[in-house]
Amino acid sequence: MEIQEGVYESDFTMKCACCNKNIYRGEEITRTLDSTHGMSTRSGKSRPQWVHYMCVPKNTSTEYFENIVNEIQSFYGSRMTEEDVRESVHSHGYWTHEKN
Ligand SMILES: [Zn+2]
Repeated sequence: MEIQEGVYESDFTMKCACCNKNIYRGEEITRTLDSTHGMSTRSGKSRPQWVHYMCVPKNTSTEYFENIVNEIQSFYGSRMTEEDVRESVHSHGYWTHEKN
């Protein structure tokens, strides 16, 4: 079930692909983007995976993260470049970043 754009409620208990902790039923989750950033891959090597909605994997982004970026970008318009927006969203303390 989609709670808000890019955030879903988990129907199952599963493992988070980012922090490796359990995602329990009813928790808020989001999906990783595949490595081609939205373009479909023929090989299907990098399918989207479920992560906690506050989890951000190293090598990709999530639907929820992209949502925040889009929201902030539309708020600031041309006063901020997308790169700056991404950097400022990324530097927020509330994310769980994937460890090396
Ligand atoms: Zn997680």
